[in-house]
Amino acid sequence: MANFRVHFLGAAIPSAVAAGLAIAGELVTPLVGGACFGLGVLGGMLPDIDADSSVPTRIIFGALAVAAAAAVVLALHVDSAPGLVVLAAVAAFVAVRVGLRGFTAWLCVHRGLVHSLPFAALVGVLAVHVASRAFGLAPTPAWLAGVFLTGGFLVHLALDELSSVDLVGARMKRSFGTALKLGSRRQWFGTAVLYAGVIALVTIAPPADQFVRQVTSSRTRAAIAATFAGLR
Ligand SMILES: [Zn+2]
Repeated sequence: MANFRVHFLGAAIPSAVAAGLAIAGELVTPLVGGACFGLGVLGGMLPDIDADSSVPTRIIFGALAVAAAAAVVLALHVDSAPGLVVLAAVAAFVAVRVGLRGFTAWLCVHRGLVHSLPFAALVGVLAVHVASRAFGLAPTPAWLAGVFLTGGFLVHLALDELSSVDLVGARMKRSFGTALKLGSRRQWFGTAVLYAGVIALVTIAPPADQFVRQVTSSRTRAAIAATFAGLR
């Protein structure tokens, strides 16, 4: 399994290049391009939230636990003894940090369905919906947001797969084939739900044809070329 730093750089470098090209090609505004870069990096971190000890998991659950403790303090501090408030806050922190983490760990086996190609597609098409419905983006930038998130996710899966090839010994480690996969036979029901969800969400998503046309258009290429000519 590739480590946090590898995943971060592995997602950040191509995302920065792709976001720069998208802005230069006038597909997105600099603001949306910046958000796309962030989504690419997020995509590179996302698969490991199912790993018990991964850095993103620690950050996410640590933040949730602090938030829960703060909420308890805010709710109780007026009419409870200070000692009791501290005790309740510590209890809330531990409950979230240990309890909720244990629950998600039980729910998603690492390298289970989260580390799969359909899951990468799912997060991307979800991002398309959020971008167009919640943020009101036009189809092209909305689809671009989804492509960045899925792209970062795919880079993560590829890096996990690469790190399971032992180049020195020229052999495969046992984890080979557990990161880049189409689904899980052991979790066949979850796999089926995943595919159904992706298909349903793509069906009701804003049309992608305009996005594909714009990305591949000569106008976009000309705008990119003009930007680079201007830089010289
Ligand atoms: Zn991973």
